[in-house]
Amino acid sequence: MRHIAVIGSGPAGYYTAEACQKQFGDAVRVDIIDRLPVPFGLIRTGVAPDHQSIKAVSRRYEQVALSDNVRFVGNVTIGEDISIAELCDLYDAVVLATGAPADRPLGVPGEDLPGVVGSAAFVGWYNGHPDFADLNPPLTSGEFAVIGNGNVALDVARILAKTPAEFEGSDIVGHALDALAASPTRHITIVGRRGPHQIGMTPKELGELGHLERARPVVEAADLPPVEADVVLDPGQRKSVGHLRSFAAPSANGIDKPVTLSFDFFARPVAVEGEGKVERLIVERTKLDESGNAVGTGETYAIPCGMVVAAIGYKTTPIPGVPYDDKLGRFANQDGRISPGLYAVGWARRGPTGTIGTNRPDGFLIAETIAADQPEPTGKQGRSGLDALLATRNIDAVTFLDWQTIDSAEISRARSGAPREKFTAVADMLGARG
Ligand code: NAP
Repeated sequence: MRHIAVIGSGPAGYYTAEACQKQFGDAVRVDIIDRLPVPFGLIRTGVAPDHQSIKAVSRRYEQVALSDNVRFVGNVTIGEDISIAELCDLYDAVVLATGAPADRPLGVPGEDLPGVVGSAAFVGWYNGHPDFADLNPPLTSGEFAVIGNGNVALDVARILAKTPAEFEGSDIVGHALDALAASPTRHITIVGRRGPHQIGMTPKELGELGHLERARPVVEAADLPPVEADVVLDPGQRKSVGHLRSFAAPSANGIDKPVTLSFDFFARPVAVEGEGKVERLIVERTKLDESGNAVGTGETYAIPCGMVVAAIGYKTTPIPGVPYDDKLGRFANQDGRISPGLYAVGWARRGPTGTIGTNRPDGFLIAETIAADQPEPTGKQGRSGLDALLATRNIDAVTFLDWQTIDSAEISRARSGAPREKFTAVADMLGARG
C-alpha cells in the first residue's frame, strides 16, 4: 500500500487527493491533515460569502472525502503537533497544500497604526476564520481605502459596499454582518499602483460592481487609455476594461447612490497617517515605465479614511524544517519537489495566482510526479503510525464524520435566508461534535 499525507484541506489538497486516487487506484491511502477542525480551507474562509456558487465546489471535495481510501484528519498542526520529519518517516509522500494564508507587508511608514489590516485578516474576519474572529476592524468612519487591483481587493470593496439585504443567501458570519450594518459607509477608494490595463480583476467580478444597491463605481475617464488600445488585451481583460469604461461613462454620473466606490489608478501608497489610528492614506501619483512598472512622479495626495485594507497578495506560512523562499513567499521547490518524498502543490508551490480550478491540474501533476519518483511504495506505516502518534500526544483529531456533525450544527443555527452560521472559535467547532 502507498501512503500519502496531504497537508491542507483546501482546493489544492482535495484535488491532490482526487488525483492520487486516479493515479494509484485502490493501492493508495490518502490522509488529508488540517490544523482547523473543519475542512475546505480557502473555500470556507477565503471565497467571498456572497459567492455561494463558487463555494458549491466543496460538494465535489466531499465525494473525495467520503471515499474509502481518503480520510480527513482535522485539528492537527503539522510543524507543532507533529513535525515534518516525523510525517516523512510515516508516509511515502507528504504533499504541502497549505496555500498562502498570510498577508504580505505593505512596507510603508504608518502601516502599524490601528486600522491598517491585511486582506487575509479582513476576509478571514467576515468569513469566520478562528484566527481573525476578534479582528474588530474599525468601520465607524465610513471611509475606506482598499489597496490593490486584484480580485481580493474587489471582494473586500464589494463586501464593504453591500447593504445587509444584499447578504441574503450568503454565509457571512453574524459578527461581520452586524458590524457592517452599523457602519456609516460612504466612500470606498480602490487604490491601484498601475493603470486600467494592468488590473488583475476578472470581468464577472468587476461587472458585479455595476449592480450594487446603494453603491456606484466611479472611474476617472482621464485614467483610461484610448479605446483603440484595448485591442492588445486578451478577451477577458478587454471585457474587464470595458466595465471600467462603463463606470466612467457620462451616463454613470447621473446615477444617484449614497456610497461611492472610486478607482484611484496610478496611485502608489507611500504612508499611512493619523493620530494613534488611521486617518488618511498618502499616495504618490505614478506613471508606467517602458517595462510597465509603476514609477513615482513625486506628486502626492491624501485619501481620507478610517481603515486601510491592503489586498496586495499573500504568502505561504513557513513550516519548521521545510525550505522556504522568502522572496517569493512560498516553499522552495522545483516543479513541486521540495526534497525526496516531500512536495508542494497549489499556492504553496506556485504562489497565490489563478482560480480555484487552476489547482486541479496542479494536483494531477503532483500525483504524476510522485508516481515517477516512487514507482513502488516504500513500505511505510501511514495511517496506523499517525494514529499511534496522535494517541501518544493526546491530540484530539477530528474526522470527516465529526465535520458532518459540525456542519449540521452550523446549518441548523443559520439565521433566516442564510445557508449556515459558522462557528468562529475552535472550541465551539470541537464542542459541536456532540
Ligand atoms: P493579485 O491578483 O495578484 O492582485 C494583487 C494586487 O496588489 C495587484 O494589483 C498588485 O499590483 C497590487 N500590489 C502588490 N504589491 C503592492 C504594493 N506594495 N503596493 C500597491 N499595490 C500592490 O492578488 P489577489 O487579489 O490577492 O488574488 C489572488 C488570486 O486569487 C488571484 O489569482 C485572484 O484572481 C484570485 N481570486 C479570485 C477570485 C474570484 O475568482 N472571484 C476572488 C479572489 C481572488 P501590480 O499588478 O502592480 O503588482
